[in-house]
Amino acid sequence: MSPASLSVVPDRITVRVPAKVNLYLGVGPLRDDGYHELTTVFQALSLHDDVTVSRSAELQVVTRGDGAADVPADASNLAMRAAELLADWAGVPASADIAIDKTIPVAGGMAGGSADGAGALVALARLWDIDIDRESLAELAADLGSDVPFALHGGTALGTGRGEKLMPILSRGECHWVLALAKQGLSTPTVFRELDRLRENRSNGGELDGDAETGGPDELLQALTSGDPTTIAPLLRNDLQPAALSLAPALRRTLRAGLDAGALNGIVSGSGPTCAFLCADEVDAVNVAAELSGAGVARAVRTASGPVPGARIIDAD
Ligand code: ATP
Repeated sequence: MSPASLSVVPDRITVRVPAKVNLYLGVGPLRDDGYHELTTVFQALSLHDDVTVSRSAELQVVTRGDGAADVPADASNLAMRAAELLADWAGVPASADIAIDKTIPVAGGMAGGSADGAGALVALARLWDIDIDRESLAELAADLGSDVPFALHGGTALGTGRGEKLMPILSRGECHWVLALAKQGLSTPTVFRELDRLRENRSNGGELDGDAETGGPDELLQALTSGDPTTIAPLLRNDLQPAALSLAPALRRTLRAGLDAGALNGIVSGSGPTCAFLCADEVDAVNVAAELSGAGVARAVRTASGPVPGARIIDAD
């Protein structure tokens, strides 16, 4: 590296990465590779993690903030895996200090780990002065995990395949959400396995609550272009919800409490257990959040809006 390029590459970079909520999550049958074919509409929310990278002789990660104790500090941390992947791709040594400041609930169905992976990719590409185009970065992101490309992308997008093939969606206005965070996380693979079990049970004559709907997200996509939350709200759908409710039945009370508090609709976010409530406007969201906090059905309650941009550098020096 020449002295000239050294002078412009910062020694410390912070990237802000959003959480996601799935406005629509259609889960197809299990594929031969063990994944389910998904059709999903993601929205990036103003609830974020900050990933800060700085120069170091080694590669290490430290996590601070909400749920930090449940995040691995070894090579299985998605930010560490992102570092190894990017270093391999560019042929540079994987060395940096990575600090993650978490606000996204851990194992909460809001893709917090994926956000940290995406944040590390963007931050380290800058720290290591790697010339990588958006498309190659998205390919590395897809190798890291199904939700990582969306954390890079942000906004509102349609995801297909495992959720990693993205198409931006035209959406007008802002959605105002209330998020009810649960005491305990749910493991995404366990929730998918529970859905397979419930579907198997249904095909043997049992019932599967809330999984009777068919059809794609077309109506929702149309509603998003109108930007009217009262049109969007009844079209929220999550095929994983019956499985999340089966594993964590207390979430039924949380969903009911949000509706009673005045939300337009409530849904389990992704694989859960976070419940996301769409509200008519910002004032309603604040009121719903206050009432939900008092109802004692959640560990914590937050308001957030979307869509917001994907992983982006907010500080460099
Ligand atoms: P999904 O992306 O499947 O919706 P989630 O949002 O439910 O996942 P995450 O917060 O991403 O859940 O965490 C899932 C698991 O991933 C955690 O229990 C943790 O062990 C592991 N993990 C690895 N790296 C991270 C990270 N940087 N932040 C959070 N969890 C991580």
